[in-house]
Amino acid sequence: NTEPLAQLISKPEAQRFYKPRDKFGHKGTYGHALIVAGSYGKIGAAVLSTAAAFRIGAGMVSTFVPKCGYNILQTSIPEAMVITDKEEAFISDITVDFEPSAIGIGMGIGKNKATVEALKSIFQKKNIPFVIDADALNNISENKELLKLIPKNSVLTPHPGELKRLIGEWKDDYDKLEKVKKFSGKHGLVVIIKGAYTIIVYGDKLYINTSGNPGMATAGSGDALSGVITGLLSQGYDPLLASVFGVYIHGRAGDIAFGQMGYEAVMAGDIIDNLAEAYLDLL
Ligand code: AMP
Ligand code: MG
Repeated sequence: NTEPLAQLISKPEAQRFYKPRDKFGHKGTYGHALIVAGSYGKIGAAVLSTAAAFRIGAGMVSTFVPKCGYNILQTSIPEAMVITDKEEAFISDITVDFEPSAIGIGMGIGKNKATVEALKSIFQKKNIPFVIDADALNNISENKELLKLIPKNSVLTPHPGELKRLIGEWKDDYDKLEKVKKFSGKHGLVVIIKGAYTIIVYGDKLYINTSGNPGMATAGSGDALSGVITGLLSQGYDPLLASVFGVYIHGRAGDIAFGQMGYEAVMAGDIIDNLAEAYLDLL
C-alpha cells in the first residue's frame, strides 16, 4: 500500500485545489450562501463569518440572525442580505425563502432550547452542504439525537474543547486521531480538528495543514474559518476540497496578517482582510 498516511497541505497543493474564476461568471455562478449565526452579545460571530464568506468569493450571502442583529449586520456589511428570527435575542426558527447553495451554522448561536429545535429542522435539508461550528456542535454534544440528523458530508469545525464534548476524552494524539477517524467514518462527516497544524479528517483520509500561526489564537478566528468554508462550498468546491483549501487559505491569511503586525495584535478581522492577499499569493 503506497497511499500516504496523511497529506501535507502547503502552497503547491492549494494551487492545485484552487478553482479559478470564470470570465463569464455572474454572482449566481458563485452561489448564495446562508450564514446562521449570532445571539444577543454575539452578533459579531455573524458579522465575521458573513464577511469571510464574501471575501472568499461567495456570489451572495444571506445572514440569518435574531432580531437584535438586524441593524448591526445591515450597517457593518451592506453587501449582505439579512433575515431575522421572530425572537429578539436568539434563533428559534430558521425560515428562508430561497434555496441556499451552502449553509454555515452555529457561530455564537447559544444553547437555547428553541435553538436546538431550529437545528433539528434545518438538518432536514439533506441536499445542501453544511458547515457546522461552535454552538451548533455544542448543542449536538448535549443532544446526541441531533447527531443522526446531520446531513452526510457536512463539515464539522470543532476546536479542541468542542471536539472533546463531541467525541469524549482521548488518551493522546494518536488516540484522538483514531477516535475522530472512527467518528467521521461512522457518520460520513468531514471533521476539521482545529489548532496549530489543523488536521482534516474524512474517514481514513487525513490532511495536515501547514499554514497558520499562534497569532490566530484570538476570538473570532474560527468564525472566519466557517465563513471561508461556507463560501467555498457555495462556489461549488466539494466538502473535502472546501475544507482542505479553506483551512490552508485561512491560515495563509493569518500568516500574512502576522507579517504586517506580529503575533499579538492580530484580530480575526485582520485574517479576513488578508484573504485577498492569500488568494493573490496563489496566482
Ligand atoms: P476558534 O477557537 O473556533 O476561534 O478557532 C480558532 C482558529 O484559529 C482555528 O482555525 C485554528 O486552527 C486557528 N488557530 C488557533 N490557534 C492556532 C495556532 N497556535 N496555530 C495556528 N492556527 C491556530
Ligand atoms: Mg469557534
